[in-house]
Amino acid sequence: MKRSRRSFLKIAGISALGIGSKPILNAFSASAPQGDTPQPAVMRKPEALTAKHWAMVIDTTKFKSRDDFKPIIEACHSIHNVPELKNKNHEIKWIWEEGYKHAFPTLENPYFEEKVKDLPFLVLCNHCENPPCVRACPTKATFKRESDGIVLMDFHRCIGCRFCMAACPYGARSFNFRDPRPFIKEEKINLKFPRRTKGVVEKCNFCAERLAVGQLPACVEAANGAIIFGDLADPDSDVRKLVSTNYTIRRKLSLGTSPSVYYIV
Ligand code: SF4
Ligand code: SF4
Repeated sequence: MKRSRRSFLKIAGISALGIGSKPILNAFSASAPQGDTPQPAVMRKPEALTAKHWAMVIDTTKFKSRDDFKPIIEACHSIHNVPELKNKNHEIKWIWEEGYKHAFPTLENPYFEEKVKDLPFLVLCNHCENPPCVRACPTKATFKRESDGIVLMDFHRCIGCRFCMAACPYGARSFNFRDPRPFIKEEKINLKFPRRTKGVVEKCNFCAERLAVGQLPACVEAANGAIIFGDLADPDSDVRKLVSTNYTIRRKLSLGTSPSVYYIV
């Protein structure tokens, strides 16, 4: 039986007072989902890829045109059942394109070549080390997995208050203003990943469900080497070496969120 919004809000109130239940360690808890498909296990299997701090490096120098973004966005959105909504106000985005000025409004480097400022950038949830969205969520529907730093969501705990959206300075979260399920093409439905319902917030999960079974994120696999993913805490990892040896930028660093997504420019 579905719980009423009122009972959810009671939970929210209790949680806000700090008397609530402990954070869920499974991104999609085992209890009744809000979607209509089986919950994928993001509990790690023996073959899982693990890290102390998952991070991503997007090498913008490897993209020739915006057309290179399309298969990457498609890979992410199709495996995660992201609906295609024509109305921009209702759009759901896990990874998308932004212009430099919007992606990096606070970054001022007078030595950047002008062409960098004309580049489009792929943006997604930054899986911030200090995520304001987590602090804002009254029900702990969004939480940081301390073992590897991924900021996850438990869709069925989301009460749609959108405090997390207001708190995220990157616009990385989308709200389902309408039931998204009719807007996923039947032939594209991934039955292993939950579809969401009206009134739920969603965002990139760093492909936690793929890492759990030993696979890299879908965007990484589709990017032909332009997106690199790995353990920033490991000095021998590719991401660590790239961040150490290249000039990289991160979004809105001055806010103190400490994004885990780096851009080589
Ligand atoms: S980018 Fe936004 S949604 Fe993602 S962890 Fe940071 S504050 Fe949260
Ligand atoms: S890490 Fe996974 S969920 Fe996040 S943008 Fe890439 S494909 Fe999408």
